Amino acid sequence: MTGCIFCKIIQGQIPSEIVYEDDNVVAFRDINPQARIHIVIVPRKHINPMNEINEGQAKIFSDIFLAAKKIAVQQKIGQRGFRMIVNVGPDAGQEIEHLHFHLLGGEKLGKLVG
Ligand code: 5GP
Ligand code: ZN
Repeated sequence: MTGCIFCKIIQGQIPSEIVYEDDNVVAFRDINPQARIHIVIVPRKHINPMNEINEGQAKIFSDIFLAAKKIAVQQKIGQRGFRMIVNVGPDAGQEIEHLHFHLLGGEKLGKLVG
């Protein structure tokens, strides 16, 4: 998608610290970390979570969660745990259209819900 920062990161046009990649998913450190470990996990395919999610893309979500599990082990927080957050749309403060999960961890996180 032209003009999408995350598509540019995936294509190597914008530098980032990539911590994990496979055929379907890329993960890199957030430029403005909100926890000791803050990694952004994205599908290689540009999808806007506001209006482009459909049944045909269900596998993307399992790919992302399987990647998260591997990244947590790699980052040595496999036992301590982590939080996954996805912001969808203006009320959630979504800044970048490309579907992305925030993986946060490496410290005790304040509870948001639950
Ligand atoms: P959103 O608010 O859309 O859920 O999250 C977008 C995230 O992308 C923010 O946490 C922001 O810090 C991060 N971000 C924005 N631009 C860049 C960039 O150029 N590089 C990296 N690594 N992260 C970025
Ligand atoms: Zn994109």
